[in-house]
Amino acid sequence: MTVPDIIIAVDGYSSTGKSTFAKLVAKEFAFLYLDSGAMYRGVTLFAMEKGLIKGESIDEPALKAALPELELHFKHGEEGTSLWWADRCIEKEIRTMEVSGWVSPVSAIAFVRAWVDERLHAFSEGGRVVMDGRDIGTTVFPNAELKIFMTADPAVRAQRRYDELIAKGQKANLEEVAKNLSERDYIDSHRETSPLRQAPDAYVMDNSDMTLHEETVWLRGLIQGKFGILE
Ligand code: C5P
Repeated sequence: MTVPDIIIAVDGYSSTGKSTFAKLVAKEFAFLYLDSGAMYRGVTLFAMEKGLIKGESIDEPALKAALPELELHFKHGEEGTSLWWADRCIEKEIRTMEVSGWVSPVSAIAFVRAWVDERLHAFSEGGRVVMDGRDIGTTVFPNAELKIFMTADPAVRAQRRYDELIAKGQKANLEEVAKNLSERDYIDSHRETSPLRQAPDAYVMDNSDMTLHEETVWLRGLIQGKFGILE
């Protein structure tokens, strides 16, 4: 199927399989995959390592002053996409529970969002991009030609994220994972700047009981119907 050069925005709750789905789309239709959550995780790791998260709070003025020195970029290779902080690959470090615990408060800060948005736009120049996140269809690319909003049963999501962490050799506890997901969903949906919302023109996918193959079939049908493409 030949898909035109469009922007596909994939938003939704934590651990609904957005990145797995977006990667699949990128592979199937030769799109560039961009993971906006990785950028927020990168800023969070930066803040943690610079000692800007002290006790229960984030030193916002110090983070604002330090942010210009942070250089984040993606590398797209055979094994997929990875996030780099200058010449250091941080793909593994940004997926830990520690970073997951702080990423939502960090990403609720308006200047952090502006910093990330600017980079997401620069990385997307030229189009033909599939990007996943929380506010892609509402704020980052409100004119994206195709918007998908993903949701799934919270218990299914927690189990998936737990299995993922265990498969990566990380320590995980199902209850803690479930708690982290619901806390992030709450903060992400209630923050002032760019809260997680379903765009009015987004197509909803509840993948609680869907296989990846079914997700692909669903998307192909959607694209065919929307863009009038025949196989
Ligand atoms: O997608 P992922 O779960 O890795 O995202 C981590 C966190 O980054 C989310 O819980 C959310 O707080 C933040 N995020 C965001 N806006 C986006 C993508 C992610 O606020 N577009």
